[in-house]
Amino acid sequence: MNSDLRIVYKEACLCEACELCHSRTNIVFGSGSEKPRVMFIGEAPGENEDLSGEPFVGRAGKLLDKLLIEAGISKEDVYITNILKCRPPKNRDPKPCEADCCMPFLNRQIEILNPRVIVCLGRISAMRLINPKFKISCERGIWFLRDGRDICAVYHPSFILRDPRKHDDMLGDLIKIREKIESTD
Ligand code: URA
Repeated sequence: MNSDLRIVYKEACLCEACELCHSRTNIVFGSGSEKPRVMFIGEAPGENEDLSGEPFVGRAGKLLDKLLIEAGISKEDVYITNILKCRPPKNRDPKPCEADCCMPFLNRQIEILNPRVIVCLGRISAMRLINPKFKISCERGIWFLRDGRDICAVYHPSFILRDPRKHDDMLGDLIKIREKIESTD
């Protein structure tokens, strides 16, 4: 991990800003390329992530890996993290105050890693990063500009596990993301 990122990571490890610090096993900071062309941002760690300290290592993460390969997005171009760095009990939705406490870590990760393209995984991430009224079913795959970066949202991979009929829509969105990454070089 580069030294700027390590400073933020160490602060996150010591963070006690919200109640999730009492139930976490590990913080889940993020993983992947430190020169990412695209940053994927999910919602919050689940049980497997809390135990391992790595994002998207459970079933949803395995599906995401497979979809990225199918869409031709190289792991070498990708950094993955979440809005929350600690697991909410029983995987409940993050509380707004928890996201408020955690956003400074994400903002610093974005600043340091400086991806040109950001992709929100699911509604919760999109509502935080694009628009509080974001509707994932009709606004997924649409590009917005935030602080000079192209940002869009796709379905959360857990949703595809629950409704496999949406697989092709998700793959189509990821292929458009690969094209966007290639066009912003
Ligand atoms: N779901 C998320 O949003 N993030 C993870 O890291 C794992 C599952």
